[in-house]
Amino acid sequence: MPLTSVEREELLREIAGSTTEEPGALDRLGRDASHLVGAPEAAVSPADRADVVRLIRWARRHHRALVARSGGTSLDGESVAGKGSVVVDFSSWNRILELDTANRLVRVQPGVVNHDLHEALGAYGLQFPPNPGSWTQSTIGGNVATNASGPRSYRYGATRSWVRGAEVVAGTGEVLGLGGRTLKRSTGPDLLSLFIGSEGTLGLFTEIALAVTERPARRMGVAVPLPKEISLASVVLRLRRERSLGLSAVEYVDATCAAALAGIPGSRLPGAEATLLCEVESESESAEERQLEGLGALLRELGVPAEPLVYPDADRLWTLRGESGSALARKVGPTVREDIAVPPEALDELFTSIEQIARRLEVPVHTFGHLGEANLHPNFVVDPGNPVAESIRRSLYETTRRLGGTLSGEHGIGAVKAPYLELELGGPGIEALRGVKRVFDPDGILNPGKVYPVR
Ligand SMILES: Cc1cc2nc3c(=O)[nH]c(=O)nc-3n(C[C@H](O)[C@H](O)[C@H](O)COP(=O)(O)OP(=O)(O)OC[C@H]3O[C@@H](n4cnc5c(N)ncnc54)[C@H](O)[C@@H]3O)c2cc1C
Repeated sequence: MPLTSVEREELLREIAGSTTEEPGALDRLGRDASHLVGAPEAAVSPADRADVVRLIRWARRHHRALVARSGGTSLDGESVAGKGSVVVDFSSWNRILELDTANRLVRVQPGVVNHDLHEALGAYGLQFPPNPGSWTQSTIGGNVATNASGPRSYRYGATRSWVRGAEVVAGTGEVLGLGGRTLKRSTGPDLLSLFIGSEGTLGLFTEIALAVTERPARRMGVAVPLPKEISLASVVLRLRRERSLGLSAVEYVDATCAAALAGIPGSRLPGAEATLLCEVESESESAEERQLEGLGALLRELGVPAEPLVYPDADRLWTLRGESGSALARKVGPTVREDIAVPPEALDELFTSIEQIARRLEVPVHTFGHLGEANLHPNFVVDPGNPVAESIRRSLYETTRRLGGTLSGEHGIGAVKAPYLELELGGPGIEALRGVKRVFDPDGILNPGKVYPVR
């Protein structure tokens, strides 16, 4: 339902930031990168923390849903603004507030774009390593709210490992200062951790403190075509044991995805076969040469005879890899893009099961993903709105759970996976989550319909 005149009048009087009800702006801000379409009634860009508090109080008074949005690159409807809701647009909250080089810490507003932070830290020889494929658009607020990861999480872990603290306005309107500047903390259950990956359902980040670390002297991208019959589980298990190679990313694109990427100007990928994409970190040129030789020798031992193709600018390779989904969609049409992860030793069985599901449901599938973390993105070539998408998801999640895996390696739950969450958490787990939600958002105004299955 549209805003009432009382709601609109209070919003305009109480909120210092900008508010829009312009249909074009709402159409853009109501969507994310999923197939879902939103229908918000307004969008607010709060001026400051006090504005966020006032907005939450306003929403509680009027029982209005608030949907936080930063980069809007979510793939499962995490930031789609449902009917009647109000978007809280953090995209202009894009200032780096403090860089404390001594303590290796950076304080940022939630709308800082991941790649912009990467560039800014580069001037100091520092890095915030998680680099999702969307890093030129997605923001630190969105990355923390979804516990995002990227190719380099192979070595450095997901966003969660890098969050030291956050300022959050809970759904109650209370401001919480969580975590802090120390390197360790043991003060009971970790409230900060609860908010990481909570997808804007418990509170809104107004500030985030991240750990940063030194950049390695050299980072080299490597692409290696893979033979058809090879156990990818064996490759991963072996590479993960090999510390001396300095690997910081181990990614995979199948033959169709590689061909789609090969069409992008400057890609240099041959694009004929499935390809392994890696990053090697080194402290010197001679060390790099040794490590690349070592990687080549190890891969030959594992049955990968091809010579690695080298990318001196690893970041370009990751930006290219981030385009896998869109390049594939241009080649084969819309897909149901998935995001499951299993223990590495179950990788071969997961690949086989994905093919079986595709054959049984008569839907072609093409897969890319973060192979080194056994986190795959099978893309089933069918419109995500087609009823068969439901069968694909259920079969895939049941298989993944049987293999000891998870419904989401990194994208989150959003609206799309909420109906299946019980497969992973079970009834008591879901009830515990609902209890947490009631504490921080008693009126259920924050991002309803996401994460928690609708009763
Ligand atoms: C091409 C492409 C490649 C991708 N590759 C990866 C990848 O490699 N790894 C990966 O993990 N993901 C990937 N993603 C998914 C997506 O980019 C990530 O989930 C990203 O973290 C979302 O960030 P965002 O800024 O776009 O957030 P949004 O989509 O704006 O929001 C994401 C969630 O965070 C909440 N939120 C946003 N701001 C706040 C705030 N201030 N306070 C509280 N909650 C907030 C939203 O309500 C929503 O639930 C990819 C997406 C695309 C389109």
